[in-house]
Amino acid sequence: MSKKVIVFGSFVVDLMGRTPHLPASGETVKGSMFRMGPGGKGFNQGAAAHKAGANVTMVTKLGRDAFGQVAQDTMQELGMSSEYLLFSEDTETGCALIMVDENTSQNKIVVISGACGTITNEDVERLAPLMDGAEYLLTQLETNISSIDRAVRLAYEKGVKVILNPAPVQPVKDVLLSMVDLVTPNEVEAEIMTGIPVSDKAAADQAAKWFMDRGVKKVLITLGSRGVYIHDGIKSGILPAYRVKALDTTGAGDAFNGGLLTALSEGKDLWEAAVFANALAALSVQKLGTTVSMPLRKEIDAFLA
Ligand code: ATP
Repeated sequence: MSKKVIVFGSFVVDLMGRTPHLPASGETVKGSMFRMGPGGKGFNQGAAAHKAGANVTMVTKLGRDAFGQVAQDTMQELGMSSEYLLFSEDTETGCALIMVDENTSQNKIVVISGACGTITNEDVERLAPLMDGAEYLLTQLETNISSIDRAVRLAYEKGVKVILNPAPVQPVKDVLLSMVDLVTPNEVEAEIMTGIPVSDKAAADQAAKWFMDRGVKKVLITLGSRGVYIHDGIKSGILPAYRVKALDTTGAGDAFNGGLLTALSEGKDLWEAAVFANALAALSVQKLGTTVSMPLRKEIDAFLA
């Protein structure tokens, strides 16, 4: 049975265009395909957890506009609770402008946080009842940092365990890290935060120590197709990824974090939870897209059987 969990993070609409080549400055290129859909690290992770069976409440901030409606429609389709959605009266819903080179798969992305970058302290205070009885709060670094500071502090004070996925990476105060139960950077984020290139297990152990010296209790560093490094506070090791044919690894980290949250909320230990998250992410990279590529619980169970 899944305990109550919260995902506090971003929602943006992804506007993705494929092009024969990425335009140079001042150049206009005829693109070949356009797709629009829900996105943002917070929303992707919340949707992944919901589809995997977690009892999750998504908290994000939207504008009162068409893109905000995309969020609400998607949540309704998925059966996610919209009770704790926040709304801005004067800022538009965020969006991501994504250009993908159809030959090399290289991309250029501009993310405009919009409303989810304007979460106020008062907005966060309104979440207090939600925190009562919640087991975990999962957050990232895509909303305004003041709101993350406030939400983490509120969770910590209420005894809700905080999982921080520090993406997109940016400086984080030690006081914030001291309230984090589990941090989940990818290897690039881990290196930027700690200054230690995560080249092997010994280096990952050093990076984990860097976080733990600042009060983080557990560390998990995702290593793409190589799997995940885990330090549970006592012992560490590397869990390999499942060998699958990857079609689109966009959002692999989001899939992983959603899976991790789900499994932890069901009482699995960190190692068992990482197996579940690995499976969820392995399924998601075999499909195109982000929210739509997140597997349902029955698909994950079948994969693990
Ligand atoms: P992104 O920024 O693209 O969302 P990320 O850099 O945050 O991803 P990664 O470390 O690349 O995250 O991947 C997260 C997890 O997804 C890995 O730990 C692994 O479990 C799974 N994964 C990623 N790529 C593959 C792959 N090619 N095959 C199987 N599993 C994968």
